[in-house]
Amino acid sequence: MNTQTNPQQIAIAGAGLLGRLLAWRLRLLGHEITLFEAGKLQPDSNTTRAAAFTAAGMIAPLSEAVVSDANVYRMGQFALQRWPEWLNDLPYNKTELFFAKGSLLVAHPQDESELQQFESELNFVVPECRNYQRLSSRDIQNLEPDLSPQFMRGLLLQEEGHLHNREFLQQLSNELLRLDVKVRENTPVETEPQTIHSDAGAEKFDLVIDCRGLGAKTQLKKLRGVRGETLHVETSEIHLHRPVRLMHPRYQLYVVPKPNNRFIIGATQIESEDRSPVTLQSSLELGSALYTLSPAFAEARIIEMDTNLRPAFMDNLPKIFCKPGLIIANGLFRHGYLLAPAVVEQVLAQVACNQHILFPDLLQASISG
Ligand SMILES: Cc1cc2nc3c(=O)[nH]c(=O)nc-3n(C[C@H](O)[C@H](O)[C@H](O)COP(=O)(O)OP(=O)(O)OC[C@H]3O[C@@H](n4cnc5c(N)ncnc54)[C@H](O)[C@@H]3O)c2cc1C
Repeated sequence: MNTQTNPQQIAIAGAGLLGRLLAWRLRLLGHEITLFEAGKLQPDSNTTRAAAFTAAGMIAPLSEAVVSDANVYRMGQFALQRWPEWLNDLPYNKTELFFAKGSLLVAHPQDESELQQFESELNFVVPECRNYQRLSSRDIQNLEPDLSPQFMRGLLLQEEGHLHNREFLQQLSNELLRLDVKVRENTPVETEPQTIHSDAGAEKFDLVIDCRGLGAKTQLKKLRGVRGETLHVETSEIHLHRPVRLMHPRYQLYVVPKPNNRFIIGATQIESEDRSPVTLQSSLELGSALYTLSPAFAEARIIEMDTNLRPAFMDNLPKIFCKPGLIIANGLFRHGYLLAPAVVEQVLAQVACNQHILFPDLLQASISG
């Protein structure tokens, strides 16, 4: 542990992606951390849980820049460097958690204009980006031999990666306990400067950091939830080395390989705060698109269907609000694993009162979210 000259007593509200990461990085800097979580560190699928558990774990700066802006690309490039550095700090990191093998975009012959459209948008949003490659049918088969041979054109986005996120969250919770972070599970809280309010009453800290995702809606009136649904399937018939996105005029599907022959297929994006189970329509769309990637998926077993809400502001970009004794970080939308390193490092700079602003667009002048 890198002991600080001025260690602080810090409370963190929310043990999803941001809260867990901040607890870890601040504890490694020598601060005393208490982490409050409304649910459990290892929740089961029957309870409301962090969006971090539903996410597919893609770290996709190019694909996400096309649907947002160039800042997302820059913060995403930072993430691709930071994730492997952070993972090296995990003592139990025996299994590989992070992969930088790029991602593959394919389209059926009748939808190939979707690939051209993607490429023009990418060149418009990130003109400096050269790290992608147009692929022929043979290139696609060489990269991913188990995909259906019907794909004639594709794009390889070299500057993308993916993380085995559930395994990472599990390892990180073990590490927090090993580092003596005080974890208070099943404790929903409200936050204000230097104070945490729970059923146990008010508790004082030097600093409170609010990472409650959608749970902060009581405080951040402009925060909204965006519904996303995923399918998890298992099959030993297919091996993929990297995430594959199917470009389609109506919906975009991705498949991300996970440990033990599992795949996550996602994700719908619906303007609704409904957390109820996956609809029949979504499961049919996700399942049939998956089948067209390779008929061998027909024999895959559906082992889980998941729904969650992405915490988002109106512009779908993350924000950090700071006032004395309170920092709020939220709005990671569909870019949690992609943008968390930038958000976390900027929060760490705020805690250290470091004048060096890494990502100025993240910092907001007032809590108007
Ligand atoms: C279907 C889907 C797919 C996704 N795929 C990707 C992907 O491939 N790549 C990517 O980068 N991002 C992805 N995301 C986005 C990512 O999951 C989120 O951006 C990220 O989890 C947000 O992190 P967070 O810490 O702000 O919130 P969360 O991870 O939701 O964590 C918030 C935590 O706060 C706790 N909490 C809430 N209220 C309280 C309270 N009152 N007191 C105490 N604790 C409280 C919650 O229980 C939870 O544990 C996906 C999201 C979804 C839904």
